Amino acid sequence: MTHDVAVLIGRFQPFHAGHLLQVQAALAKARRLFLLLGSHRSSPNTRNPWSSAERQQMISAALSAQQSDRVTFIPLRDHLYSDNRWIKEVQHKVAHACRPGDRVLLMGYHKDASSSYLNVFPQWDRHGEAPAFILDATPIRHAYFLGEPPEVWGKDLPAGVKTWLEAYQHTERYRWLAAEAAYISQYRKLASLAPHPPTLVSTDAVVIQSDHVLVVRRRLRPGLGLIALPGGFLRPNEDLLEGMLRELREETGLKVPKPVLEGSITNRAVFDAPGRSQRGRIISHASLIQLKPGPLPHVHGGTGVEQAFWLPLSEASSQEEAFFEDHFHIIQHIFTRPSTPPDGDSDGL
Ligand code: NAD
Repeated sequence: MTHDVAVLIGRFQPFHAGHLLQVQAALAKARRLFLLLGSHRSSPNTRNPWSSAERQQMISAALSAQQSDRVTFIPLRDHLYSDNRWIKEVQHKVAHACRPGDRVLLMGYHKDASSSYLNVFPQWDRHGEAPAFILDATPIRHAYFLGEPPEVWGKDLPAGVKTWLEAYQHTERYRWLAAEAAYISQYRKLASLAPHPPTLVSTDAVVIQSDHVLVVRRRLRPGLGLIALPGGFLRPNEDLLEGMLRELREETGLKVPKPVLEGSITNRAVFDAPGRSQRGRIISHASLIQLKPGPLPHVHGGTGVEQAFWLPLSEASSQEEAFFEDHFHIIQHIFTRPSTPPDGDSDGL
């Protein structure tokens, strides 16, 4: 063995034969393997269907007892709008689990642009060997959630993972995800009729008062039942500010006068992580509206939402995985993200 510790970062959604090869190569090179379970606590969707605890069960089902003894699972959150914070968190978590003087080997191969993170840890050695075969987890998830038979989705999975996934098909969660997958598949089929892959524009409002944020519970797919910011697609005849105020009013019934809302905007920022929506490319222009402290105005669920309510900011973090798409990240980042007014009008922001 050449190293004390190997590090493999991944989503493992699901853990397939290519991932298993990486684990085996790591255990041949290092005494211990840290499996960093990326996208921890991210919004549940057909790209990240399984929680860290579920992925840990799934991966353990593919390993022998001796292999498992040498593996440490480390959940790792995304910082969609700050790579630096993410890098810092990886470094911190690995350093915390290492013993002094451990030699670290970073596993993983460059499958596409999303693998560029493999280049940002120069302090560790890199395992540079190309994999024996290339596998993509996306078609596996697609076939699995669209109800194809196990021969279709299971052929590139370790036997333990396949069995785990068959049992998972009997859960309520599977049914929810399968319905989401059917919706997304239909949505993408319609989008594919456009002459170019469409890029859609939406708005979101982050309304804060007395340390509460105004949110809604979705009544429609995608994200049925999840917590979201009031917002939606921009109409052809309105500008970003009008679109944001209209969606806010329609979804929450907030009765604060328009000039007060406009005068309380303290930041506007663009949220554009390419994978932020499973529907396709949607860029959101979010506005931070900070109302003066006081009694929380009455709100009620409106168009497309089951309920509108004020969520204490202190509770938002504990409910991170109940948020739709990147809305938790928007709340977290709009306080720090530089203002990007679409019309160049930066006064008061
Ligand atoms: P993945 O599950 O797709 O892959 C895990 C590893 O296995 C990768 O190194 C991949 O190249 C390798 N692999 C995949 N197929 C293989 C095969 N057939 N043979 C051999 N190896 C194979 O995971 P991922 O998407 O690369 O995970 C990266 C994680 O890091 C994600 O959770 C991502 O969100 C996170 N991340 C976050 C930020 C941020 O928040 N700012 C930045 C970068 C990365």
